[in-house]
Amino acid sequence: MIYILLKMGVRMRDLKDIKRVILKIGSSSLVDDKLNIKKDVLDKLMCSFKNLIDKGIEICLVTSGAIALGRGELGLKKKPTEMALKQACAAIGQAKIMEYYNEASKKYGLLCGQILVNHDDFQVRNRMKFLAQSLEAMLSNKVIPIVNENDVLAVEEIKVGDNDTLSSLLVPVIGADLLILFSDIDGLYDKNPKEFSDAKFIDTVSKVDKDIYKMVGVNKSNVGTGGMETKLNAAIIATQAQGNMIICNSNRISDLEKIIEGEQIGTLFIAKKHLISSKEHWMIYRVKASGALVIDNGARDALNNKKVSILPKGIISVKGEFLSDSIINVIDEDGNLIAKGISNYSSSEIELIKGKKSSEFLGNKFTKEEVIHANNLVIIREDILC
Ligand code: GLU
Repeated sequence: MIYILLKMGVRMRDLKDIKRVILKIGSSSLVDDKLNIKKDVLDKLMCSFKNLIDKGIEICLVTSGAIALGRGELGLKKKPTEMALKQACAAIGQAKIMEYYNEASKKYGLLCGQILVNHDDFQVRNRMKFLAQSLEAMLSNKVIPIVNENDVLAVEEIKVGDNDTLSSLLVPVIGADLLILFSDIDGLYDKNPKEFSDAKFIDTVSKVDKDIYKMVGVNKSNVGTGGMETKLNAAIIATQAQGNMIICNSNRISDLEKIIEGEQIGTLFIAKKHLISSKEHWMIYRVKASGALVIDNGARDALNNKKVSILPKGIISVKGEFLSDSIINVIDEDGNLIAKGISNYSSSEIELIKGKKSSEFLGNKFTKEEVIHANNLVIIREDILC
């Protein structure tokens, strides 16, 4: 097939050995302006899934659209702002969307199963293990997992917040080779194509750095919002977990098989070859820091040169309250995030020993010299922005 396409002059990507694919589809691609499901989209999806599963490719689908469908069922013209009403919409819409997926999959002899997750399920190691094993069991039985955030119970502290990030967090959980984000944009441009007629389409990205964020109008040091930023964040998380990622327009859903074969559709973010370990990936992207240490410039410079332990004498102050063994941020005096690591001490213990030399605090209560040992520390370089 690839040979025929090459002969026809179709430009192909080198996407070899794709076995596991996660697809994410956004609300606007699934639900129309009148808040009805787009049944033709579901039909195209299931038709492609059938062909891919027959070829031995495993598929996991991350779906949005529950809140929009719930609004439709409740007859709400405007997006609810009240949390409780949003949760009610999610409860109604999630049941509805599964009804539609079951109906569409049955037509092609496929079986779907629902998985609802929150951030905790990626953060707590045991829960991640249960999530991974249920996904594995479904995939090996050719069942399509249909995943969404558990919006009904997603209070601020435990929510992921958007399905771009959620789908990228699933990449290391199932060892996916490819994540495809279907949305209402074609991919990445060097400037906003709605404002600039000379905006150039970017076919391939090998590194998501600050310049890429600038292209989409996001300054990474500010807290930004907006569709493209969450997609770039997802690209970092997925590619650092050795997954490729493609952003493409949902009007290309019927080309899903061609996309997986490597036809140049959408923007490809290439999987990283030099991996961070799975423990580092977990610490950086999947665990929310419980607090922070502010270190002095000497300690910062030592960390810039190589991975060294954080000792009390380099600590200026402690932010937040946390217990020992918590994951915390390490920031410099200007507030820049330098590293993340597992703390040997609680925040109140660090308050007692900060700024001190080892000989001044080591004793029966304080048995460890390091607040964060080098083996439990990951340095945040530019290419692992978080
Ligand atoms: N989980 C939300 C829903 O099902 C959508 C979140 C998102 O699209 O990022 O409505």
